[in-house]
Amino acid sequence: MEKFDIIIIGGGIAGLSTALHLCRETDATLLLLEKSFIGDPTKTSPFTFPDIVERFGLSDAVLQKYTRFVYRSPTGVAACFEYENPTFVTLDYQKMCNIIFNQIRKEGNVEVMEKTKVLDLEIQNDFLSTATLRLTLSNSTDASCNVLCDASGCNFFTLRKLGIKIPSLYSHPYGELLAGCKIEDPNEMCIFAGNKYGNGGGWLYPIDRNMARFGFATVTCSPIYPRDIVERNFENAKRDFYPCNEMLAGAEKTRSEFGTIPIEPLKKFVYGQILMVGDAAGQATPWYGEGIRPALESGEMCGKTIAEACQKGKFRRKTLKRYQHLWDDEKRKAYSLARAESYFRNQEQWDNSVRLQASLTREEMLGIIRYNKWPRR
Ligand SMILES: Cc1cc2nc3c(=O)[nH]c(=O)nc-3n(C[C@H](O)[C@H](O)[C@H](O)COP(=O)(O)OP(=O)(O)OC[C@H]3O[C@@H](n4cnc5c(N)ncnc54)[C@H](O)[C@@H]3O)c2cc1C
Repeated sequence: MEKFDIIIIGGGIAGLSTALHLCRETDATLLLLEKSFIGDPTKTSPFTFPDIVERFGLSDAVLQKYTRFVYRSPTGVAACFEYENPTFVTLDYQKMCNIIFNQIRKEGNVEVMEKTKVLDLEIQNDFLSTATLRLTLSNSTDASCNVLCDASGCNFFTLRKLGIKIPSLYSHPYGELLAGCKIEDPNEMCIFAGNKYGNGGGWLYPIDRNMARFGFATVTCSPIYPRDIVERNFENAKRDFYPCNEMLAGAEKTRSEFGTIPIEPLKKFVYGQILMVGDAAGQATPWYGEGIRPALESGEMCGKTIAEACQKGKFRRKTLKRYQHLWDDEKRKAYSLARAESYFRNQEQWDNSVRLQASLTREEMLGIIRYNKWPRR
């Protein structure tokens, strides 16, 4: 059995960001385990913000920048915002993962095992302040550590092993990367409201005049939802939803993506020497289902906290808990204001919400998208 100071389960954005900030600040031994490959090939081009790109050194992964934002309902009600500078971007997901992965490899003391699934977890010697966490791996070996970071996404590895309640709200998106589109304005990013094609809304992110990412999501209280329903909603929208249907007529699928995003943060994501981060902690924003920025930022918080605990020696649980306090102080309030019921509105209520947002300034709209911050009027 190999022994490490820290083990991270999951090589998605949250696991990678945690690993990067950890190995930048400590020489502790680190093992990153990914059951598939780093840079999930099914993920395409998530949207995020230019300052996040800059802060995490991801500019080589930028596919497109947007200076216009449109929030549109299938009934035709729309709110349009024009920005002087690019305010949103889409990223090449695989490139973004590779950039971070290469930095991790340069920094140091990290072993990475792809195609290795964590099957089981055993907590030993818990009567001492420092327990040993022992993992059973799919390659028939075991590995142990002092600190375990669970970045296993909506697999919820640790929650399921420890029998802890999983989140109760999920977005189930289906989308395609389409070629052969006739995009009117490649600098315009659209988000869709309403429940006609899925109550989780939808998106149109042009990459250029010919290529775009288009999709819809359904929000439910279950982590499982049939792909064929969201795929059918997508097909209906592609055919009927004006003006997207005109821009996408005759376009061909180059890749498709389907998944589940937990959109309710766990109340607690530090359990002794186990820390959860990213989708595994339900850290995607409940108001927009945006998970890349939260995974990068929470991974940074988590990695730095573990590094600090390591420097102080013995991975004190009190120091590890600081990750929870930091996250609660910075983010919990915005997440608490998001209401699950708002996903289950009727079309008229959705339209009224779009009308209300049309009356806002562009800065106010940005505040809603990023921080769920509604202006007081
Ligand atoms: C279709 C779709 C569109 C999206 N669009 C956007 C967008 O435009 N903007 C945005 O910000 N967000 C978007 N998101 C959300 C965003 O992609 C996620 O919130 C984010 O990628 C979560 O990162 P993560 O690292 O927490 O989890 P994941 O990326 O899910 O990574 C978890 C990793 O853990 C691995 N793993 C799981 N269990 C084990 C195990 N037992 N052993 C070893 N490895 C394991 C998995 O293989 C996986 O690679 C979208 C999501 C989907 C599905």
